[in-house]
Amino acid sequence: MDLSYTAEEEAFRVELRGWLVAHIPEEWTAPGYWASLPEEQSFQQRRDWERDKALAGFAGIQWPTEYGGRGGTPGMKAIYDREMVLARAPQTVNPLGLAFLAPTVMAIGTDAQRKEIIGPMLRNEVIWCQGFSEPGAGSDLAALSCKGVRDGDDFVVNGQKVWTTNAVHGDKIFTLVRTEPGSELHKGTSMLLIDMRQPGVEARPLKQMSGASEFGEVFFTDARVPAAECLGQIGDGWRTAMLLLSFERGASGMAQYTEFRRQYDEIAAVARHLGRDRDPVIRDKLARVLVELECLRYHAMHVLTQVEQGRELGFEASMTKLQWSETFQDLWEVFDDLLGEEATLAEPVPGLELAAMHAQAMWSRSVTIWGGSSQVQRSIVAERVLGLPR
Ligand SMILES: Cc1cc2nc3c(=O)[nH]c(=O)nc-3n(C[C@H](O)[C@H](O)[C@H](O)COP(=O)(O)OP(=O)(O)OC[C@H]3O[C@@H](n4cnc5c(N)ncnc54)[C@H](O)[C@@H]3O)c2cc1C
Repeated sequence: MDLSYTAEEEAFRVELRGWLVAHIPEEWTAPGYWASLPEEQSFQQRRDWERDKALAGFAGIQWPTEYGGRGGTPGMKAIYDREMVLARAPQTVNPLGLAFLAPTVMAIGTDAQRKEIIGPMLRNEVIWCQGFSEPGAGSDLAALSCKGVRDGDDFVVNGQKVWTTNAVHGDKIFTLVRTEPGSELHKGTSMLLIDMRQPGVEARPLKQMSGASEFGEVFFTDARVPAAECLGQIGDGWRTAMLLLSFERGASGMAQYTEFRRQYDEIAAVARHLGRDRDPVIRDKLARVLVELECLRYHAMHVLTQVEQGRELGFEASMTKLQWSETFQDLWEVFDDLLGEEATLAEPVPGLELAAMHAQAMWSRSVTIWGGSSQVQRSIVAERVLGLPR
């Protein structure tokens, strides 16, 4: 494990930190600031800020310069993730595109797709959604039934997707569609890149328990998609989907560690404020989570070292997803334990600004579901990494 950064990486850190300090207004970093804005305003403000950041050269850190990236090292990407968290930078509005679609396009897209997709995505001109889950297909993605029927140079798509992050803000959606009539399971599917701003595509918001609607449903009714808008081979969508999911599960975990470690301090501060820091049960839970967090840090460094040495992580990516998501959930359970049944209130402690923490505690319930649930990840690790019998 090599924990040092090169001179070039250190210089990048200084430059990035300077830009972030100059371009993040102080009020944006106050607890609860983003939660206090109307959803639409928050989205637009973050969209514009992220575009400016990309234009300043701080996006696509590891991506080739020919596609608008910075051409940096994995170490620079880890520095970027950490500095973004330390600066309390706004969260991306294009997470599905940036983290999952772009690396897939770079790996297997055509040259035309690389040029058309990556630059506009970096500048947030196109917001991307992921259309995998359906009412009858979640962990069992191969049960999908959304259909695309060939008609000349187009596919005509009918069906429904659900739990689609950013559904109401999406411009395009990478969608796994059954394109071979009568095919079953993972055979006969294609990854179509569908324009969401066309007749025949309707996005409806779903209201979450937090009051936000950051995901929704997407309905396709005779939506036309040019056959050229397929990522990977037609009929081989499963291979494209599996490649994409490997990026969804494969981040190093360093950004998560940095963010969660700060959240840990905030939760400990609430414990002190409430006088619960002397409660032996709470102390025990805080200590356990701290140990988990440090394990996550060492795991993240291990992954980063492997990636820097050019090693493919393969199914080990599931270990990272499992570790960060379970740690995050355990952390926020301590917050819930501190407040007891008051944790369900929007303002549980009068005089203490907890809206942002409250939102995190609710969000933590979701992270062991999306991107492959913990149960599914454990099966992958057991069978594919440890070689246990199926
Ligand atoms: C916040 C959030 C955002 C999301 N965003 C998107 C998005 O943008 N695009 C998208 O396509 N989807 C999205 N999803 C959907 C997500 O991918 C699915 O919820 C997930 O794949 C689980 O599918 P499911 O909800 O149908 O649950 P199910 O698959 O029905 O699972 C229900 C339970 O059964 C368990 N289970 C299922 N199969 C097995 C098995 N073989 N072995 C052991 N246990 C099993 C699961 O672990 C789970 O506990 C999002 C979900 C959330 C919560």
